[in-house]
Amino acid sequence: MNSYRYDLVVIGAGSGGYAAARTARDLGASVALVDHGPLGGLCILRGCMPSKTLLASSDLIADIREGGELGVTTGPPAIDFRHIFERKREVVAGFADYRIEGIKSFPLYEGLAAFESPHVLRVGTDVRLEARSFVVATGSVVAPPAVPGLVEAGYLDSDGVLETANVPKSVVVLGGGYVGSELGQFLARMGVRTTFLIRAKHLLSTEDKDVGDSVTFYFRQEGIDVRSGVLVNRVERQGGLKVVHYTKDGEPDSVAAEEIFYALGRVPNVAGLELERAGVAYHAISGVDTGPDMRTSSPHIFAVGDVTGYYPLVHVAIYQGELAARNAIRGAAEEADYALQRSHTIFTDPQIAAVGRSEKELQAAGIPYLVGSYLFSEHGKAIAINKTKGFVKMMASPGDGKILGAAVVGAEASDLIHEVIVAMYYGGTVAEFVKIPHLHPTLAEIWTYPAEDIAAQIEANAVAAPRGVAV
Ligand SMILES: Cc1cc2nc3c(=O)[nH]c(=O)nc-3n(C[C@H](O)[C@H](O)[C@H](O)COP(=O)(O)OP(=O)(O)OC[C@H]3O[C@@H](n4cnc5c(N)ncnc54)[C@H](O)[C@@H]3O)c2cc1C
Repeated sequence: MNSYRYDLVVIGAGSGGYAAARTARDLGASVALVDHGPLGGLCILRGCMPSKTLLASSDLIADIREGGELGVTTGPPAIDFRHIFERKREVVAGFADYRIEGIKSFPLYEGLAAFESPHVLRVGTDVRLEARSFVVATGSVVAPPAVPGLVEAGYLDSDGVLETANVPKSVVVLGGGYVGSELGQFLARMGVRTTFLIRAKHLLSTEDKDVGDSVTFYFRQEGIDVRSGVLVNRVERQGGLKVVHYTKDGEPDSVAAEEIFYALGRVPNVAGLELERAGVAYHAISGVDTGPDMRTSSPHIFAVGDVTGYYPLVHVAIYQGELAARNAIRGAAEEADYALQRSHTIFTDPQIAAVGRSEKELQAAGIPYLVGSYLFSEHGKAIAINKTKGFVKMMASPGDGKILGAAVVGAEASDLIHEVIVAMYYGGTVAEFVKIPHLHPTLAEIWTYPAEDIAAQIEANAVAAPRGVAV
């Protein structure tokens, strides 16, 4: 057994772990990375980047189909699956090579990590690493299938969909979260007859109702069968098909397809880490318990990224990784603030993005707010470029007009949201927002309408309210 000693050992070289390692090294610490591979992390290998690369092809198909509106028609698009998946493979390989180069700039121990004690980590069978601090950044895994008969019938998870060049003729998507919605729409646009079975009333159930309803409407409009409010009971094979039995409004029903896409979420990856031996508390579903400074119940051990069960997003994993590294190396207790970090985007078409608090969160917290909204179908630039799906909305405090949150369903939502993120970062009010120059004609100027609307509501309330001091 070979033993080595470092200031910091980071377990997992994905987005969170790599950010932690880089930050600690920049602070002058000796740092080692441990990863059992494949190297590159979820985002690059089987998450954000391959999915968005594939979606570029399915978005183009939609644009081609809508081309007639702009007076440009072609024949039906010919889809070359082999090319689409080969392009994805090449794009991902490029990103992975670059990241692996970065990972290998650290002492790297390739193997399965498991704690032997609070300060000693075993890697594989022949390496023992001792460190003053550790960062656990082992990510997440697809949630184990909980539907009777699913394993026997066989299914694809998101890894499978991203790899399957043998696209099925029909698919049932179990789950209406962002992974299911993005990749389910991809399959549908590739010509796969696609049926969603979702328990909630609309896709993307964690979003506000108007946001989820809007996307559900557009999915149905393009021929995707979204069956909401259903309880999936079991799956069985019948001949060459897989049949999903479910109950809706108390009535049994079923749907058959060539393939099932199981998209019912991911769970933190803690298997085999022997966290008990390090005194690190965790839960199989919610992940490793951490405080706001990313310390676990063992104060020299930190956890970041998907394994913490917070917001499973790359920018959050990086933010937590950098923060944990600073705290570990400086012995500090800087706390994470998710008020803006929890901003997110979903790459369905139309896209979704949100910042700050949603309306349902404001209502649940009993926070008073004013809301303004505007439709892309009434916005000049959107009409000009024929991207009229969706809307924007902004929520602000009725007193001082401070922006509390915003959401957008529509073209380029993932980029448009940044304007409100910046405004909120600087504590902006709607009155300040409308003073920011907006170029014309742009999609971004649509934000001025809800901001103006709320500013006018505040003005009207101020006029209506009695002025001066009562005597
Ligand atoms: C289909 C899909 C699409 C997504 N799209 C987006 C998106 O558009 N935007 C976004 O922000 N997020 C997206 N995500 C989520 C995002 O990919 C994750 O939140 C992020 O990659 C998590 O990073 P991480 O560092 O926590 O973990 P990971 O990147 O998963 O890294 C964990 C690392 O730990 C290693 N490891 C695990 N266990 C051990 C062990 N015991 N010993 C040694 N090594 C170990 C693994 O090999 C891996 O390299 C998507 C996810 C999926 C599945």
